[in-house]
Amino acid sequence: MPDVSELSQRLPSGMVVTDPEILAAYRQDRAQDPEAGTPLALVRPRTTDDVQTAVRWCAEHGVPIITRGRGTSLSGGATAVDGALMITTEKMRGVTVDTTTRTAVCAPGMLNAEVKAAAAEHGLWYPPDPSSFEICSIGGNAATNAGGLCCVKYGVTVDYILGMQVVLADGRAVRLGGKQLKDSAGLSLTRLFVGSEGLLGIITEVTVRLLPAQAPASTVVGIFPSVRAASQAVIAVTAQTRPAMLEFMDSTSINAVEDVLKMGLDREAGAMLIAQSDAPGPAGAAEIALIEEAFRVCGAGEVFATDDPDESEAFTQARRIAIPAVERKGSLLLEDVGVPLPALPDLVDGVAAIAADNGVTIAVIAHAGDGNTHPLIVFDPADPDEARRAQLAFDQVMGLAVEMGGTITGEHGVGRLKKGWLPAQLGDDVMELTATIKHALDPQGLLNPGVML
Ligand SMILES: Cc1cc2nc3c(=O)[nH]c(=O)nc-3n(C[C@H](O)[C@H](O)[C@H](O)COP(=O)(O)OP(=O)(O)OC[C@H]3O[C@@H](n4cnc5c(N)ncnc54)[C@H](O)[C@@H]3O)c2cc1C
Repeated sequence: MPDVSELSQRLPSGMVVTDPEILAAYRQDRAQDPEAGTPLALVRPRTTDDVQTAVRWCAEHGVPIITRGRGTSLSGGATAVDGALMITTEKMRGVTVDTTTRTAVCAPGMLNAEVKAAAAEHGLWYPPDPSSFEICSIGGNAATNAGGLCCVKYGVTVDYILGMQVVLADGRAVRLGGKQLKDSAGLSLTRLFVGSEGLLGIITEVTVRLLPAQAPASTVVGIFPSVRAASQAVIAVTAQTRPAMLEFMDSTSINAVEDVLKMGLDREAGAMLIAQSDAPGPAGAAEIALIEEAFRVCGAGEVFATDDPDESEAFTQARRIAIPAVERKGSLLLEDVGVPLPALPDLVDGVAAIAADNGVTIAVIAHAGDGNTHPLIVFDPADPDEARRAQLAFDQVMGLAVEMGGTITGEHGVGRLKKGWLPAQLGDDVMELTATIKHALDPQGLLNPGVML
């Protein structure tokens, strides 16, 4: 076992933590993998230099490294393994907005919400908005290529990352891209690191593109008799326009949210869609009218539109808290499957059939305009048979998405929990290519072992 005190001596006092109680809080991420290991120590670097020192020490001693942002991963990407050094970016702080280039240079530990707030001070906007935006880091967002609610119109994290600094597995720090809006020099390595889930290096700085502040949005809510009718309405909308948000909740998730918020959601609804338009003036009114009409044509019993910001925010908030609300009903196996939009109705029907076949509850929420769904499989971990059936359903949902030409993960990443299904989606050649890239950048296999591959 390598002597951690040697690492402590190379870093500022107090940066290396070995207190078992503190370590315990960093073993698991939000996926709560029961098989999480016990780390050797935790490092809380403040600078890229600190990260380099820690990584070099690990490379010298063959110590595995688990990089952690804020630990909100839903796929077990930041789960500890035995004897690993956990490196958390939470103390790497700071964001500088450049109003001329409309970019922000962010330390990786900044929360997504803090980056948005810094941009907003200058009348600018950082769009990607995972529901966890108040609790997840921008470095974690880059490492998972995070999506969110407005991504249907504005794109996901990779569409905003212009550059980054990365510490490689041997401790070298490289700069990729920068504030330039266009850059064709060399391979697109910046993009390779986005979504690399801590496998290829530790992101210690991110340069993001900003947009002008979003115009105030109007909201349309549709109440549908069935999940199929709601998902057909999604296709009817996206075939004609690209709304700024198009979110889906099924009956189980509506009821779970209503239990928490008590905001008067329709407990009898089969499904609910929440759409937004941020198009200015008459274009916005026309887009709202088009969405209302599509909802009605597809069978919505009730359609409600508002341009009141508080009402809009209340519905958006209802959608954002759906995961924690359903989590109150039991332990969750959380899916993130996506399909090409025309297959969405068959996917939601297929998920319902899988729930019935296995006798488990599956709540479905979705960034529906992207075809990205989150079937949430609820089970009681104290009931081994139910836990087994939940796991079967988890596998079957991913199998279904792959069969339909979709993906096992639209935004959360593969992590540890979904890697068993990655070969089915990617095929042998792409898996081998992925392993080759990993080996070229991390020949000792120290970075996030057990994730993805
Ligand atoms: C209630 C809830 C709602 C959510 N909603 C969404 C959503 O709408 N959309 C969405 O995309 N996600 C969502 N998530 C998932 C999660 O918030 C995102 O995956 C987020 O990007 C993770 O950020 P983090 O800072 O917590 O990273 P962590 O969980 O700490 O790490 C995630 C992965 O990134 C790696 N990593 C973290 N930081 C770095 C770094 N600096 N360099 C290299 N690798 C790094 C880790 O090793 C790990 O593999 C949600 C989570 C919760 C709990």
